[in-house]
Amino acid sequence: MTHSRPEILFPLFADLTVLEGVGPKSAQNFSNIDVDRPRDLLFTLPHGCVDRRPRASLKGLIFPSIATVEVKVGAHQRPTGRGRPYRVMVRDAEMDFQLVFFHAREDWVQKNLPTGARRLVSGKVEVFDGLAQMVHPDHILRNDKDINLPPFEPVYPLTAGISQKLMYRATRSALNRVVDLPEWADPNLKAEREWPDWRQALKRAHSPQGMQDIAASSAVRERLAYDELFAHQITLAIARASVRRAKGLKTQGDGSLQKSVLQTLPFSPTGAQTRSIADIQTDMEKPIRMNRLLQGDVGSGKTLVALMSMLAAVEAGGQAIMMAPTEILARQHLAGLRPLAENAGVRLELLTGRDKGKERIEKLKALASGDIQILVGTHALFQKDVNFHDLRLAIIDEQHRFGVQQRMDLGAKGRAVDILVMTATPIPRSLALAHYGDMDISVLNEKPPGRKSIETVMVSAGRLDQVVERLRAAISEGRQVYWVCPLVEESEVVEMTAAEDRYKHLRASLGEGNVGLVHGQMKPSEKDKAMDDFIAGRTKVLVATTVIEVGVDVPTASIIVIEQAENFGLAQLHQLRGRVGRGDEASTCLLLYSGRLGKSAEARLSIMRETNDGFRIAEEDLRLRGAGDLLGVAQSGLPRFRIADLEEQADLMKIAQDDARMFLQTDPKLESERGQAVRTLLYLMEQDKAIRLLSVG
Ligand code: ADP
Ligand code: MG
Repeated sequence: MTHSRPEILFPLFADLTVLEGVGPKSAQNFSNIDVDRPRDLLFTLPHGCVDRRPRASLKGLIFPSIATVEVKVGAHQRPTGRGRPYRVMVRDAEMDFQLVFFHAREDWVQKNLPTGARRLVSGKVEVFDGLAQMVHPDHILRNDKDINLPPFEPVYPLTAGISQKLMYRATRSALNRVVDLPEWADPNLKAEREWPDWRQALKRAHSPQGMQDIAASSAVRERLAYDELFAHQITLAIARASVRRAKGLKTQGDGSLQKSVLQTLPFSPTGAQTRSIADIQTDMEKPIRMNRLLQGDVGSGKTLVALMSMLAAVEAGGQAIMMAPTEILARQHLAGLRPLAENAGVRLELLTGRDKGKERIEKLKALASGDIQILVGTHALFQKDVNFHDLRLAIIDEQHRFGVQQRMDLGAKGRAVDILVMTATPIPRSLALAHYGDMDISVLNEKPPGRKSIETVMVSAGRLDQVVERLRAAISEGRQVYWVCPLVEESEVVEMTAAEDRYKHLRASLGEGNVGLVHGQMKPSEKDKAMDDFIAGRTKVLVATTVIEVGVDVPTASIIVIEQAENFGLAQLHQLRGRVGRGDEASTCLLLYSGRLGKSAEARLSIMRETNDGFRIAEEDLRLRGAGDLLGVAQSGLPRFRIADLEEQADLMKIAQDDARMFLQTDPKLESERGQAVRTLLYLMEQDKAIRLLSVG
């Protein structure tokens, strides 16, 4: 089997300058919108279309409106002064109007619109001073038999230096290079959805016959979007299969440690926790490598699921690790989990970048000998000299910033370590499938019982003094408060200064001993102390930057104030708010905003007020921001889809995943007729890497 692009695709991968109307200069401009080859242009679809069907007269139209009419050219009227336009009187079947040209070249106008001639003109008609006029018509055509004005004209997204006319010409020329390709789509699906063939679909997508053809739900658009999603899911399915092909470890615990830990807990697991634990255990028992995602809303109790899974590894005589994104979180896991583990006779330790010298060496020894059974920590867990006796399970906590590649690196650490990734906040289903499509997913869609919902209020920063008064009353009742300082993207120093100022201010008004401070620039030991003081209730108010965003769990805190909330994204606000509402006390979230709110900030904040449901917030976030932004395309490893719309066509992603996984089961090497067609699709979609993976396994 060769591993290079099939010849049938060559015309689509040629240089852009082979297209009519595209020279080196416009090719350069095109490349600003990532259009470098005819294929890229073909996948750049119109986002609108203009009705150019000729009509007899403008009469009866509501202006402004785009219209196409046949006219008889009347008198010309030269500009009556500087800055005045050149006018040409025309008459259609029923009424007079004017064609208007600013800065016109007179000879050009006279040549194209000789008095007495008949012309077809098309453009936007407006009423000015009570007169209908068409300023700079889009088209002026001799109205004989061979005019070539499509009844509907596609409208493309443009970039500097590229006009609609060029887009039109270049896409037509690219379409001429398209040939029939073997069908890769599932025949049943294709029939059921009434999808056209690929070539047909492309042609029609570039020649919409009205706005209904632009809709994401049109068969043509669906088909093309599906191709993209299907190629992506095939790639993920191949990656998944190649991970699973590597022989995994059978890790089967006897439940004894789990049982003894559960007995010491003051609560029992929720149904969703029990289900997720079972999913994970079933995977671990199989001789294939687990690659699973645990999605749960803030406060849904992911840590317990993690602990139970790690205990299963220990019961089976193995070891487990859990990596947190920050030192604070790693320490919190140590504090929360060690007593539970020790009670059950399990040794649990912490390893972070702060471990140095002799102590570190001792820990590494104990790990290599198997004396330490569970290790929690930060990225330091993956340093080269960290070796295990029998590592079975690696858990990555709160890591929405982890891409496919990093997961694969992680897998390389142990022999065939089972992997569990836990997301910090829910992400919409279609995105989860795109981003984590190589994984299996468990969802914690149930919160522990007894949680009171969090009351969320928006407060203008102008009322800061009142807020502080309220806090004074609250802390005198023994309540604890997070105070989150403004997010400053560009500068941690500015962020720190803001936090320090607020700290001083609050200390002055609420009492020196009552207020603590934590931010990213502090010394590690100072950070620990600030956290410990707050956890122990010695301080009542913790002023913090977003270092507390992810995961921090202090159940006695029941108020959170977020300054300049309008600058935070929805997911982040939800994460921050999730710091409260963890105990059985009713909690409050105060969103402070300054000045007048912009439209999108207002939308974000009102969603926060409306709901505490992280899954719903995630969907709204996708709607407001679009897929790329949500995960940060660059760091997420999420492909940029040119056609597929993850919001409008969310259902297609799931269908594509099922289809891809099922097909790969029947034809794991892509050898059948459809398999060959799928290969062509992968090349077309520039997913050739996956094809190489096929041959190594
Ligand atoms: P997250 O999913 O945000 O990581 P945590 O694991 O930190 O959530 O759990 C949040 C809080 O809920 C913790 O204080 C934890 O002890 C508590 N908790 C977890 N599971 C349950 C349960 N089944 N019943 C009651 N409380 C629970
Ligand atoms: Mg957590």
